Amino acid sequence: MYDLIIIGGGPAAVAAGVYAARKKLKTLVITETFGGQSMVSDSIENWIGTKTISGFDFAEALEGHLRAQASVEIKMPEKVTAVHEIPSTDVKRPHDFEVQTDQGNSYQAKALIVTSGSRRRRLGVPGEDKFEGKGVAYCSTCDAPIFSDKRVAVVGGGNAGLEAVVDLFPYASEIYLVHRGEQLKGDAVTQEEIRKNPKVEIILNAQTQEIVGDKFVTGLRYQDSKSGETKELPVDGVFVEVGAVPNSDMVKGVVELNPFGEVVIDHRTAATSKPGIFAAGDVTDELYKQNNISAGQGITAALSAYSYLLGINKRSPTAEKVA
Ligand SMILES: Cc1cc2nc3c(=O)[nH]c(=O)nc-3n(C[C@H](O)[C@H](O)[C@H](O)COP(=O)(O)OP(=O)(O)OC[C@H]3O[C@@H](n4cnc5c(N)ncnc54)[C@H](O)[C@@H]3O)c2cc1C
Repeated sequence: MYDLIIIGGGPAAVAAGVYAARKKLKTLVITETFGGQSMVSDSIENWIGTKTISGFDFAEALEGHLRAQASVEIKMPEKVTAVHEIPSTDVKRPHDFEVQTDQGNSYQAKALIVTSGSRRRRLGVPGEDKFEGKGVAYCSTCDAPIFSDKRVAVVGGGNAGLEAVVDLFPYASEIYLVHRGEQLKGDAVTQEEIRKNPKVEIILNAQTQEIVGDKFVTGLRYQDSKSGETKELPVDGVFVEVGAVPNSDMVKGVVELNPFGEVVIDHRTAATSKPGIFAAGDVTDELYKQNNISAGQGITAALSAYSYLLGINKRSPTAEKVA
């Protein structure tokens, strides 16, 4: 029986693991990968205390820091598929937990921290599945060089979409940034950089309807939501950058989720609706999804888990509401 199981290997998980080790908790971290979503970034420039770091080096640094903690055991690559409540081994706690994984293993702990982050959302339009890998792509850092001298559409006007456009600057001949809203949503500084580049055309109020092609992508069809007109952009590639889906399936029915599938937490303690389960980072209903915020919340979760294990009552309003 572990004191604590942490699910995930991004900044939230590693911060939680380092703090759990400082409290001498017998901890198990189960993760598919280390580094989290920004692992694919060329350059992370807002990790506080570091001017710039590549996603690859960031992932290595996180993994190294966690592996330096003597009381933390790591299972990687391993995916948590389900979480169950089991009877408590101590009258001071209402229950313990069992975690099952894709390797057929199960592990037990007195408390859990869920930091499983999120994954890319799909557009869900005709042609997306058919042309995946044949012009439809989801990782600009990985796949931008494939589109040398080609015309490319990037769908999505948030930070991920803007970053994809910047990644394509050195390669693509023309870049269409297609966004369904009236205005772009990402960082003002990156927007400015994009607007200055003559390769880029920004198309707003555009609802993507279909990705068309024969063997490979040949175009992107969209509806202009102002005029109602259907238009087609002649492109060889489409990068889909339309947001994220939280990886919360393993705790569905165990803790409260919001309508987006995010784990609802008390932002003071990182407690979920189930006493003994805490959550941090992009898997939660936190408004701002960032590395530093995830790390900070991971720390809050670890300190709250420690108080919970000591029997100190710092239960959240969320827990009180659901109990
Ligand atoms: C392309 C891109 C660039 C970005 N650049 C920046 C940036 O420059 N600066 C910044 O601050 N933020 C950036 N972000 C946002 C930042 O990456 C996230 O806010 C941050 O990664 C969230 O950390 P997290 O630990 O909550 O979750 P994640 O980073 O999503 O990590 C989740 C971890 O959980 C593991 N996992 C998932 N499901 C399971 C499971 N069932 N069982 C076991 N393990 C599981 C995954 O393998 C992963 O290790 C970027 C995001 C993207 C997509």
